[in-house]
Amino acid sequence: MGIVDEDIVRVRDATDIVAVVSAHTQLRKVGQRWSGLCPFHTEKSPSFSVNQVDGLYYCFGCRASGDVITFVREIEHLDFAGAVEWLASRAGITLRYTDRNEGESRKRLGKLRDAMSSAVDWYHERLLHGADAGPARGYLRSRGFDKEMVDRYHLGWAPEGWDELVRALRLPRDVVVDTGLGLVNRAGRLQDFFRARVLFPIFDDQGNAVAFGGRKLPGAEGAKYQNSREGPLYNKSRTLYGLNWAKADVVASNEIVVCEGYTDVIGFFTAGVPRAVATCGTALTEDHIRHITRYTRRVVLAYDADEAGQAAAERVYEWEQRHDVAVSVLSLPPGADPDELSRSDPAALRDAVAGAKPFLGFRVDRALAAADLSGPEGRAHAAEAALAVVREHPNELVRDQYLMQIADTCRVDPARLREELARPVARTPADSRGRRGRSAEAGDGAAVGDGAAVGDAAEIRDDPELEALRLLVHRPEEMGPRLHPVLFSDRPAGRAYRALRAASDLPTAIDDAEPVVADLLARVAVEEPTSAVDDVAARVLDRAAARALTSLEREARQAEDPFEFQPAMTWLKLRLDALRGDEPAVETAKELLAWLVQHGEDLA
Ligand code: ZN
Repeated sequence: MGIVDEDIVRVRDATDIVAVVSAHTQLRKVGQRWSGLCPFHTEKSPSFSVNQVDGLYYCFGCRASGDVITFVREIEHLDFAGAVEWLASRAGITLRYTDRNEGESRKRLGKLRDAMSSAVDWYHERLLHGADAGPARGYLRSRGFDKEMVDRYHLGWAPEGWDELVRALRLPRDVVVDTGLGLVNRAGRLQDFFRARVLFPIFDDQGNAVAFGGRKLPGAEGAKYQNSREGPLYNKSRTLYGLNWAKADVVASNEIVVCEGYTDVIGFFTAGVPRAVATCGTALTEDHIRHITRYTRRVVLAYDADEAGQAAAERVYEWEQRHDVAVSVLSLPPGADPDELSRSDPAALRDAVAGAKPFLGFRVDRALAAADLSGPEGRAHAAEAALAVVREHPNELVRDQYLMQIADTCRVDPARLREELARPVARTPADSRGRRGRSAEAGDGAAVGDGAAVGDAAEIRDDPELEALRLLVHRPEEMGPRLHPVLFSDRPAGRAYRALRAASDLPTAIDDAEPVVADLLARVAVEEPTSAVDDVAARVLDRAAARALTSLEREARQAEDPFEFQPAMTWLKLRLDALRGDEPAVETAKELLAWLVQHGEDLA
């Protein structure tokens, strides 16, 4: 990246995060932190918090978090170096670069981009005029592509030869490899990555070519599609094909259509829906969604979202909540895909987009449509199937709306359905694996306060380990001496405590921690502790002692001689009772802590 570390620190130190954030949202001082409406997602009540002292922010709605450099990266759409440069010029700091040549890595990216752009031109030229491109031109014509479309989307033809592109462009070896345009073969020679394929260049939002999708001609060998490998320019879980052309209409119409293939995107454009994009050889990811929210929060899926089943549904509901997006699905006539429909019946494709239904509604309709509603048994089955779909939605109000629809269609009493819906479902192991995020709801104490359960304030306030972390961040001199690693569990809060102890300061701890823990630390950095140090110290100790007792009991049950454990168990129980009594139990607390420190490792 190239900027001298020391200068990055200087820029961070010279910058007031509150001033930078205030340019994008109005912040109000609440206790020791600042709070306001989140600039990254739409909301009516403030869930965005800034810790001015440590220079960190956290959003309780969309979980955006980081330091001032992250903030500038996200809000100004810059890379790391770009964000540091932006802040440096604001603070009047002249940056030094590790390589004497200023911004070597940026220059390098420029070189890679130039190479990609020459390749796009070269392949395009070959498609238009190459003697060997006749079959490719014929194929595209048969798929409804005229000259104008071929030009507009810069389609190309990669010839069959081993190394025609790399020889023609005479690119340095590292550039060829880093762009993914070529590879080094076993003989140590450079060869073209794409051969005998129609190429769809893939651009980033700004219109720089970053990759290609290559389609084989009908009858040829190999996979139907081949995509560039990832590299410095190309990250496929973030890139959306077509967004460079679509973004204007996405913003204007406040809606984006996500489909599966390059030709589907072009089909939508041709049919008069110029706001379509496609993932490039992957499923839609959370990174894609995050990227999309820069432009709109209404997402229409133009593919069979039901195929991936329940796992997909859970992801969609989670995204809807976390990123404040509304996901709907368009239904196409059976067997039709957008590309084909754009040619046979473009009006039907436009109507399908206009008639897209909310994700859950789409799935309920489908469950009902698959059933035989003519008899009472069929209707009962249909109600069950539809209810199973509704059950997956996390919001009770939403669930209830669909319940009425099911009741009407299946002629069942809504009260019965409501009762049915309230009944807990026996979960298979496979089921619970996919439902990790909701285990707290099922009463699984271990998950309370977990990264997964973010958002439920009451739950979090109830977790003494988390409150201890908050106090440790905000009042380290008071809280620090009262805590010990042995008092913390293996949950993220405990891991966060250990990460914090191991690091020199909070930002370093966040940088080094695993994602769940980093998220937790970023959050407590902006959360105000509400309890007294003494209370929290006592509760953390209480929990740790209770855990130790449980684990002793377990050991005793499995031991040959259970009575061996009796004295220790009795001792612990008495101390716990004393700790929970009315009198302040300073001595007891000391004894307990000493005992835990001594026995902590055996009990783990
Ligand atoms: Zn937010």
